[in-house]
Amino acid sequence: MSEADLDLVIVGGGPAGLTAGLYAARARLRTRLVEMLSPGGQVLNTHWVDNYPGFPEGVSGFELVDRMRQQAERFDLDIASGEVIGLERDGDSIRIRLADGEIAAKCLIIATGSQPQKLGVPGEAAMIGKGVSYCATCDGPFYRDVEVAVVGGGDTAVEEALFLTRFASRVHLFHRRDELRATGILREKILAEPKVEVHWSSVLTEIRSNDAGMVRGVRCRDLKTGDESDLAVEGVFMFVGMKPVTACLAGFVELDHAGFVVTDDLLQTSQTGVWAAGDVRAKKFRQISTAVGDGANAAFMAEKYIEDHFSRR
Ligand code: NAP
Repeated sequence: MSEADLDLVIVGGGPAGLTAGLYAARARLRTRLVEMLSPGGQVLNTHWVDNYPGFPEGVSGFELVDRMRQQAERFDLDIASGEVIGLERDGDSIRIRLADGEIAAKCLIIATGSQPQKLGVPGEAAMIGKGVSYCATCDGPFYRDVEVAVVGGGDTAVEEALFLTRFASRVHLFHRRDELRATGILREKILAEPKVEVHWSSVLTEIRSNDAGMVRGVRCRDLKTGDESDLAVEGVFMFVGMKPVTACLAGFVELDHAGFVVTDDLLQTSQTGVWAAGDVRAKKFRQISTAVGDGANAAFMAEKYIEDHFSRR
């Protein structure tokens, strides 16, 4: 396939991008999905997925996205590794600048997803990989029979804290309010888990290291009393929300105040022929199932756009 002949480029290979790719490949659009590493997105960091329809016993995050990739490739979706570093309109087409070259397409779906937010406390940056982690699935097994801290009160923090109880002797969950944001079933599970101690209305103010530069504890503050105390832990897992991956979009499409891509109801961005799908899009709910819906929607829009604006060869 000559690069100038591409109908559609999809940037990002998580559930939204892979679903867009599946639909576009079946519509016989000449499509390339560009993914920085291997396809999967944040779901790869999720140990177990219990709320994706069709898997009554649940499914591992890895298996779920691997099945999505296989399904898209069965219809000949072209998946390429590459880092998109810039986008620009060039007449009827869009130029996609990659770290090692350039491709062009008639239209584009942005499905770059999101990545974990940093907490921003002293010690955090210096100890990433030395006790500070943003992925329990990746790093949990390193914390067998020791105490760990988890920060956050959303679905991710609670799911990952529950996963960590398989390894750690005790999991201290720090949440800045006295009510969890996580959904009902997860709230029930965490409050019933004897290995988890929830530190309500509490925040970390510092992560402390030992002489080897590894995490040895945290300093925390009770927001109701103002009291500060120290707690010895060997790992600190941060789950304080996600931020959109939009470095390559600067100046190309409109972003909201938090940096998410603004779209209309049909996922059209501020740029003609460009849609956004999945976690990168400004929207209220971020689930695998909603990302998949976005991906299908965006691919249909791309197909219609090409039919309306170009003659299909
Ligand atoms: P989230 O829902 O935005 O929750 C972030 C949590 O971190 C909140 O509890 C928030 O506290 C806390 N937080 C934020 N900034 C903080 C700070 N500076 N200091 C201390 N705490 C801070 O993020 P998420 O849990 O990663 O979830 C992201 C999206 O993915 C959500 O839409 C979620 O529903 C979805 N998700 C779904 C599943 C599932 O369905 N199984 C699993 C994972 C994620 P407050 O509550 O006080 O704001």
